[in-house]
Amino acid sequence: MTQLMESPVLVWFKRDLRVTDHPALALAGPRILPVYIIEPDYWALPDTSARQWAFTSEALSSLRDTLGALGQPLVIRWGDAVRELARLCARHKITRILSHEETGNGWTYARDRRVAAWARENGIDWQEVPQSAVIRRLKSRDGWQSARNRFIREGVVPTIEALDPVVTSDLPDRLPDARALGLPADPCPHRQNGRHATARNLLDSFLATRGTHYRSAMSSPLSAERACSRLSPYLALGVLSVREVEHARQTARKAHASDKDWTQSLNSFAKRLAWRDHFIQKLEDEPELETRCLHPAHEGLRATDAARLQAWCAGETGLPFVDACMRYLAATGWLNFRMRAMLMSFASYQLWLDWRDSGAHLARQFTDYEPGIHWSQCQMQSGTTGINTLRIYNPVKQGHDQDPQGRFIRAWLPELRAVPQPFLHRPWDWPEAQQQLAGRYPEPIIDLEQAGRAARDRMWGLRKGDGFQKISARIAQKHASRAGDSARSSAMATRRARRGKSDPAQLSFDL
Ligand SMILES: Cc1cc2nc3c(=O)[nH]c(=O)nc-3n(C[C@H](O)[C@H](O)[C@H](O)COP(=O)(O)OP(=O)(O)OC[C@H]3O[C@@H](n4cnc5c(N)ncnc54)[C@H](O)[C@@H]3O)c2cc1C
Repeated sequence: MTQLMESPVLVWFKRDLRVTDHPALALAGPRILPVYIIEPDYWALPDTSARQWAFTSEALSSLRDTLGALGQPLVIRWGDAVRELARLCARHKITRILSHEETGNGWTYARDRRVAAWARENGIDWQEVPQSAVIRRLKSRDGWQSARNRFIREGVVPTIEALDPVVTSDLPDRLPDARALGLPADPCPHRQNGRHATARNLLDSFLATRGTHYRSAMSSPLSAERACSRLSPYLALGVLSVREVEHARQTARKAHASDKDWTQSLNSFAKRLAWRDHFIQKLEDEPELETRCLHPAHEGLRATDAARLQAWCAGETGLPFVDACMRYLAATGWLNFRMRAMLMSFASYQLWLDWRDSGAHLARQFTDYEPGIHWSQCQMQSGTTGINTLRIYNPVKQGHDQDPQGRFIRAWLPELRAVPQPFLHRPWDWPEAQQQLAGRYPEPIIDLEQAGRAARDRMWGLRKGDGFQKISARIAQKHASRAGDSARSSAMATRRARRGKSDPAQLSFDL
């Protein structure tokens, strides 16, 4: 009994690399063994990348410093989670593990099931504590929004003030680099830094100054870089919790209450924070959406053409605005929502690529890769959910709208700097294109108008097929958000899907 009392609780950190608003940490008390496991099999997956690891290792070293200052530095292990947890539990006579409840990709889901089976068989009490409003084993979407509101209203969990020292051994001086993990080189010169202090500074500057024109400036890649919060990688890795960000937002909203721009911007920001949970809930409810079309009628519809995929990934499609966005993403690890949607839509409609192939490339490029948001969005922008409006972006129109002077294109496609302004968005129309651009910038790899028309015809043809709407209605019932959050609105979502209308939540996107 005495031994049991003295055993520390193992707090297993995963995508919750912080000490603030951390329900599992608060529950564990001061005598803990904080552990992070670097899992090589995870880092070998096709949706992971060196840039994600670099960001993660910065967040980890920051967390290690913070925990060390509290009295017990982070123990970092390398290997299979079950094996490492078993070793640590045996060595420190641990019988209790706490972690957050993770909604990750299929691999982390399977790993958690293995950990749960091992814990059960070995008398280890493993408790997973929610860190967001995502609900495990949710029976129905009815009432979900109210449950989220309650979760936010509960307030942030107090931060632990000191930890009892448990061990100081097993602490590597330096975290391995991406090469040691076998990750291919992935230069990303303008990548965000993963440290907690950077995340706090971004949150503070967004709510104090940068966010004023968020609502109107979020759509153009020229202004979004500064006007958006840029918090996504920190939220994805749990360096900040969504609840602490929402509470900071509420305080800022009061401070800026007399300013209309601020009020509108901070309302838009609140919506997006809520969408985060809304989308992750979809993956929690249907893990297969990472690998299967939500609406099965789309299965086998597209077959990826390797040359097209390669051109799209490299930013060499011959469509300047698409290529500039892709090269910007490669260099920064981030892109604003509208441009992500355009890249995905272009890949799925005009290039007719399978969303799983294009989606895996984007996942690797994003430092903020969040499976629940990512795969839901990839399917939405490809029309495979069966419940969303079909939106086929025209990248030339988007270029004119979002980069009218071509500043973004010229910055990221230096080979087009000499193209006269009137031809910048369609350089193939420039009479001197052959002479000036041959060998330097490709001609478009598809006929834009024709490819768009063909995609529209195929998608609408499919939607008119037998039984299509019936399945859509079932998908809407399971996944669509409920405006007003009542059983009545659930019935409405189903009726809308039957009539071929889309998920109401998606109609409110700023597209
Ligand atoms: C094809 C595609 C893939 C995407 N993949 C990801 C991804 O892997 N990880 C990711 O975090 N976001 C993803 N998004 C959503 C969105 O583009 C990013 O969240 C946003 O651009 C991040 O920048 P920010 O932090 O400055 O966002 P802000 O506009 O400042 O928003 C604040 C936060 O709200 C959340 N959020 C914003 N927009 C959305 C949205 N449309 N849906 C759900 N949550 C949202 C994010 O957590 C974001 O950090 C994807 C969008 C598309 C179209």
